[in-house]
Amino acid sequence: MMLSRVGQYPECMRREDIRKFSTVPRESLWWRANITKNDLGWAKQHLGHSLDGSKEFESIPASSLCLVDGRVGASWDNRVVFVEGENAPRIHIPRGEKYDYRRDYEKSRHERDPYLSPHGLFRKLENGFHFHALQFIQQFGPLTWQSKTLTGGAEWVRLSDFWDKHARFVGVSMLWEARSDDQLRQAWQWIYLRRDLINRVAPAPFGYMPLWKVDNYSPPSELLPWEREEGFESAVNDFADFGILRKYSLEVIQSELNMHTSDCRQIWMMNPIGNASQDVAFRPTRGFSSLWGAIWDLFGQDASALTHSWRLCLECGRLFYPKDRRSVCCTTEHQALWSKRKWAREHRRAELLSEPRVSRHSKDRVDR
Ligand SMILES: [Zn+2]
Repeated sequence: MMLSRVGQYPECMRREDIRKFSTVPRESLWWRANITKNDLGWAKQHLGHSLDGSKEFESIPASSLCLVDGRVGASWDNRVVFVEGENAPRIHIPRGEKYDYRRDYEKSRHERDPYLSPHGLFRKLENGFHFHALQFIQQFGPLTWQSKTLTGGAEWVRLSDFWDKHARFVGVSMLWEARSDDQLRQAWQWIYLRRDLINRVAPAPFGYMPLWKVDNYSPPSELLPWEREEGFESAVNDFADFGILRKYSLEVIQSELNMHTSDCRQIWMMNPIGNASQDVAFRPTRGFSSLWGAIWDLFGQDASALTHSWRLCLECGRLFYPKDRRSVCCTTEHQALWSKRKWAREHRRAELLSEPRVSRHSKDRVDR
């Protein structure tokens, strides 16, 4: 028993640490980062978007880069590095406390608020806005931690990698959200504009299918819209009918889900049956060695039942988990507001349809 427990953690971890960590089951364990309110304020003021902050810092060529993970410097001047060729800084961040991401997911479902779960908050971030990245990392941790940092240390987090992955996840999420309406073309447009970021994410280019043989991928069944001879715009508009574009988008979502959950490891949990009996039941579950994998797993969990996926509120644009298939707004107030507007819109349209006669009439009067 002890042996298998030790095996879940890096070997150098002390026994008392292991006891402490064992309160969060291995299937849903991740670590936040230790980021203070002051840190967030500093980042908002100095880092801005993409490379805005590089004016205040020297850019270092990757060849002469020598970053030591060790202890975090007292001043932010020592915690930010811009590396030539990267589109965002690297930041030195200490590990924070552990948490249970599946519990946060359950909470977000219960409160119908996707932003309480790591995959929902990740979806909401503005790509390239570093203040958002640090807020996310404070709450849910970076997408990966090196195993040596988990014993309690700090590491340099590459925000360019964070934003590349973000673009890829948001792109796929947009395809899923738009699967049944004409927003699908806009989703492809969004992906098209960010294809360079998206394709930098390992292990294979966008839409590639993982093969049975581990770490092997094949190109998608059809050329991606921007790879076609006729060019992106006409490719997306020319898909013979909308059904084909939709089918194709769903295939891409499936490939991406399979690709990014490949660091999944099956774990057997042991649960006692009742109080009186000494017997236990074993239950298989999925564990991940990165938050990146976990985020895709939660997204897939949402997509596994059609009534389960989040939606964008038609009134305010916020993501929410709908109560039933018909809800199109995040709250009953917004639902009422939206219905009122919808009624007004339709009423106006009805008026417009009958308008030609009325306007001709009034025009005649003006001319006279
Ligand atoms: Zn709303």
